[in-house]
Amino acid sequence: MSANYLDGLNERQREAVITLQGPVMIIAGAGSGKTKVLTTRIAHLMRNGVDAFNILSLTFTNKAAKEMKERVEKILGSNEARNLYIGTFHSVFARLLRSDAPKMGYPSDFTIYDADDAKSVVKTIINELNLDDKHYKPNLVYNRISAAKNSLIGPEAYQVDYYLQQEDQRASRPLTGKIYDLYVKRCYKNGAMDFDDLLFKMYQLLKGFPDVLAKYQHKFKYIMIDEYQDTNPAQYEIVKLLGAVHENICVVGDDAQSIYSFRGATIQNILQFEKDYDDVKVVKLEQNYRSTKSILGVANEVIAKNKGQIEKNLWTDNVEGDKIKLVRTNTDNEEGKSVADTIAELKLRNHFANRDFCILYRTNAQSRSFEESLRRQAIPYRIFGGLSFYQRKEIKDFIAYLRIISNSRDEEALKRIINYPVRGIGKTTLEKVAIIANDQNITFWEVLERASEFGFKGGTLEAIANFVIMIQSFRVMLDKHNAYEVAVQVGKSTGIVKELFNDKTTEGLARYENVQELLNSIKEFTETPTEDGELLDDKSLGIYLQQITLLTDADNTNDENSDVVKLMTIHASKGLEFPVVFNVGLEEGLFPSGLSINSREELEEERRLFYVAVTRAKSRLFITYANSRYRFGQLQQNEPSRFLEEIPEKYLDRSYAGGGLRNSGAMGGGASWGNMFDKRKAPGAAAGPSRPAQQEPRPRVISSPTAANHTPSANFTADDPATMEVGMDVEHQKFGFGKIIGLEGAPNNRIATVMFPKAGGEKKIMLNYAKLMIV
Ligand code: ATP
Ligand code: MG
Repeated sequence: MSANYLDGLNERQREAVITLQGPVMIIAGAGSGKTKVLTTRIAHLMRNGVDAFNILSLTFTNKAAKEMKERVEKILGSNEARNLYIGTFHSVFARLLRSDAPKMGYPSDFTIYDADDAKSVVKTIINELNLDDKHYKPNLVYNRISAAKNSLIGPEAYQVDYYLQQEDQRASRPLTGKIYDLYVKRCYKNGAMDFDDLLFKMYQLLKGFPDVLAKYQHKFKYIMIDEYQDTNPAQYEIVKLLGAVHENICVVGDDAQSIYSFRGATIQNILQFEKDYDDVKVVKLEQNYRSTKSILGVANEVIAKNKGQIEKNLWTDNVEGDKIKLVRTNTDNEEGKSVADTIAELKLRNHFANRDFCILYRTNAQSRSFEESLRRQAIPYRIFGGLSFYQRKEIKDFIAYLRIISNSRDEEALKRIINYPVRGIGKTTLEKVAIIANDQNITFWEVLERASEFGFKGGTLEAIANFVIMIQSFRVMLDKHNAYEVAVQVGKSTGIVKELFNDKTTEGLARYENVQELLNSIKEFTETPTEDGELLDDKSLGIYLQQITLLTDADNTNDENSDVVKLMTIHASKGLEFPVVFNVGLEEGLFPSGLSINSREELEEERRLFYVAVTRAKSRLFITYANSRYRFGQLQQNEPSRFLEEIPEKYLDRSYAGGGLRNSGAMGGGASWGNMFDKRKAPGAAAGPSRPAQQEPRPRVISSPTAANHTPSANFTADDPATMEVGMDVEHQKFGFGKIIGLEGAPNNRIATVMFPKAGGEKKIMLNYAKLMIV
């Protein structure tokens, strides 16, 4: 038996890997090999005769889980790893709940509500209670419910909790607890769990059913958790229950990288670990293998400004490396341009590939200027997170069909598609269905099935009956057909595919392509093994739906190895590493976020986020900021981030990029406000989960768009007013570039309010007379 996988490890890493029994906690800084230790430990367990079925490994993203599995496979040189339980808390628990949920009255094919579905249910309840949803904002109420669940506080406990009640009183939303109660009941009736339920219900299952607890305690003899600093109380309690018998729990984490306290994660879980178990073996790793000395130097300086970190002395044997390049630009568009120019230059001079670059920002909205510049340079890129493929309307509609087929109780899905495509079941009918369902305490679906009993007549009754028969015919298919075959039939019988195909507008075409892409991805699902656990051959619709609902920001593993520049939020980048990293938008109010600067704790969390961002870089780090940028439709002037002042000058190489880094020190003329590319193509551009964003630059390039010297583009042709929407970038013959911030008036006489930054601000434009072109 060869154990040469141990050879490359340093002493402490090896110690952590070979300590197989008892509780182990590894607390160490970024890039010190924590994840590597965890992976090697799994392989070591298996080499020592532990069955893959007995190992549970919880990670932060599905992507990390996949990588782990691959690394273990590589070490073992076999596919034994496929039976490991490796996944996110949510995906592993969803899998376990599928077999045990019926014990709690849920169907085993329960639906998983994403945040949109959940908020929609909350909104329905707020409306049913005749409360004003402008005051009881569904989003805020949902966040309260979510926080309560992650702290294992159910609706009963919530309603008698003095502090929670006080908080709701102060916010003038005293009925939040009641909404919570009704929300839970409604989800149950719908046979649905939201994301937080995957933890909360798992906890209740283990607490309420000792036999189930015993089963899993026996099964998971070895438990491992990566990124332990980001676990919340619910996750903590579940792990404690599962590991209580064998106590073979190994957690790894870094308190300096705790960035999810807004979701209820608590560093206390790290501090508590040593108290919860006797004889915890604590391992500290101090050698960083990831970054150059310069990058690590900056990281250490930054995090030292936070109080109360667990002391670590992170060092590296790696080369000194280049200084950190700090780039200031005038505008966010110039920032985008400077980054794209730098990427082009590094590819040319230093032979980096596209995949070596990652652009990290604080908020998803920042991606726009980078996308535009990358497209202009014809550099392929891919955005992780943001409005994902699965959040597009046409995709959600299609998936709603699959959901209602899989779980007839799913009211949210039913509401989405009962009259899509139009089939004569209008709003009034749906309201009637809702009232009957509430009165009789039955599901929407049951009302539809028994429509004639409830007084529906004539055309409406016929429409309902046809709908019911169609859905039932899909359901019959489930026994003998896989997810793809069912989905194809749905596309045909409902008429969705045909309807989209017949829509020849650009948007219609993009929607058609997206649905085709969805069908492709379902096909791919049926042809590749599933990720985690036993049900490897199960290609049913239920498993498919579960898998796509649990995709997280950093997932999208399909084209993992394709050669594209990656763009993502810092939150999504946790645990990852890239040769060249751009940390962008280092401005007060943006990073640190404007919401955080009044509280020391929140500011420290932002600083940890910056630490995470810096430590993703292996060999080169660029930090950029813009003097001004458009946010919320307004041009804002920004101060450089306070974090920049915390970096000693000796690490920095400052430059000013008026028109790209190549011209550093000089004002280049190429930068421009406005969107260089056709927004109308955008919906189709990032069409699929496995497709890099559209790359070809638009032939028309516009320069120097100041009002005074604005020369309209050649071929200036006005666009159809009917296609204009708020948020679009436009060009006006006289005023130059602007953004539509409001639209009013009848369809044949629309008036747009457009913000023209270089021509005196907001102007009202009558679209029938003025010539506006979408850019
Ligand atoms: P993070 O805190 O960002 O999650 P981490 O502590 O989990 O980081 P890893 O991702 O496991 O760190 O390792 C960082 C890099 O260092 C990886 O590329 C890994 O392969 C490499 N590495 C770790 N340990 C060693 C070692 N002993 N020898 C060589 N390379 C190593
Ligand atoms: Mg890691």
